[in-house]
Amino acid sequence: MKTSVATKSQFTSKSETRPAEINSGNEVEEEPPGKSAIHSDLEEEPPGHRDSNRYRLFGHISDSNWNDWKWHFRNRITTVDRLNEIIPLSIEEQSQLRLVTMRYPLSVTPYYLSLINPDDPDDPIRKQAIPTILEITMGMMGQEDPLEERRDSVVPGLVHRYPDRVLMVLTNMCPMLCRHCTRKREWRNGGWVRTPAEIEAMLDYIRRHKVIRDVIISGGDPLTLSTRRLEDIISRIRKIRHVEIIRLGTRFPVVLPQRIDDELCNMLAKYGPIWLNTHFNHVREITPEAAEACDRLVRSGVPVNNQSVLLRGVNDSVEAQTQLCHGLLRIKVRPYYLFQCDEVQGTEHLRTPVEIGMRIIEGMRGHTSGLAVPTFVVDLSQGGGKIPLQPNYVLARTKEELLLKNYEGHVFRYRNPREQTHSKLTAVASLLNEPELHFESEGARNADRVGVRS
Ligand code: SF4
Repeated sequence: MKTSVATKSQFTSKSETRPAEINSGNEVEEEPPGKSAIHSDLEEEPPGHRDSNRYRLFGHISDSNWNDWKWHFRNRITTVDRLNEIIPLSIEEQSQLRLVTMRYPLSVTPYYLSLINPDDPDDPIRKQAIPTILEITMGMMGQEDPLEERRDSVVPGLVHRYPDRVLMVLTNMCPMLCRHCTRKREWRNGGWVRTPAEIEAMLDYIRRHKVIRDVIISGGDPLTLSTRRLEDIISRIRKIRHVEIIRLGTRFPVVLPQRIDDELCNMLAKYGPIWLNTHFNHVREITPEAAEACDRLVRSGVPVNNQSVLLRGVNDSVEAQTQLCHGLLRIKVRPYYLFQCDEVQGTEHLRTPVEIGMRIIEGMRGHTSGLAVPTFVVDLSQGGGKIPLQPNYVLARTKEELLLKNYEGHVFRYRNPREQTHSKLTAVASLLNEPELHFESEGARNADRVGVRS
């Protein structure tokens, strides 16, 4: 999940080589090997659901398993063979995918795979989840770490780039490996979670730096940790008096919304204000399950914002973005950022010219409510930070007036209030405060007459 502050440590810690830990009865499980238990959970296809992809692709999975996020996590599709069993691939595709996954692995939750239309090779959901040979044939374009995220780590896993906020990177694990991920370079390191000692070092740094008022918890995806472990960390952050808000960066509401359960929401409700940034990219990701997850969060006092990434063939049109943003508002999620896809190696085939993003914003602004229009942002290489880009509405400007273009292309003159008006007001205000000057108010002068009249 991309977050507002750069991530990743320049330090090498032993946590980076440990096997992944995920939520389970005893809190520690081995990283799922990708050998699915799907076929062992046979059940009859429920009537009335035959058109749904879930029942077409995973009809033999019981509701109790389907509604259990740990089942999805354990049964992520991580091999080309397993993928081919669910979504038939040509021989050529299979050999291409085997080649790609040697460099950039595959991981998709059964839930997210069920959103794909298996008959459409250009399906926008598929493009985000299933690798393509273009990831390596265009792989020389871009950089491994264009945002230079390793540079700003102050202790392992803690990034302090901007003055009043820090980023805690708790893990590199995600429920799905998004093909456009800014941190594809991390995929080769296996799954890791920060050790208790590393987390204590991060908290100690935050305690010692009173300027920090905003702590962003990210990864990878921090919700891959158990709720109990998350609570341990969040409750300790909450005890630091100068920390005002906590933010979570997670794609779980989109790729595995079953994770947003009552246990998690009840825990988050105890430690507010907590904000959650998620990452919907296409209106078809807004399913009843995703809507329920966001509703649970909002009812628990956790506002949800969306940070989407502009992706070729996924959401690179005014229509696609408008549908997405309208859908988000319907489920009470605020469209926050639309990111230009970073120039990361292995993502070039999904990147679009910057002008497309600006045209999309121009096609939305004024044509729909401002609440539905995200801020289009380029995250600069070399850690330069985010730059908002928007269409040019100012055609000309003098000290006296501006020539402005509205959303329909009509041009208007706008009188520009003079700066000296402000300074005159300041002068009058200071005269009024001058103790030797005596002002008699109109009311005082006419007091007698007012008395007569009354
Ligand atoms: S793989 Fe997806 S969810 Fe994980 S960090 Fe990358 S973009 Fe975010």
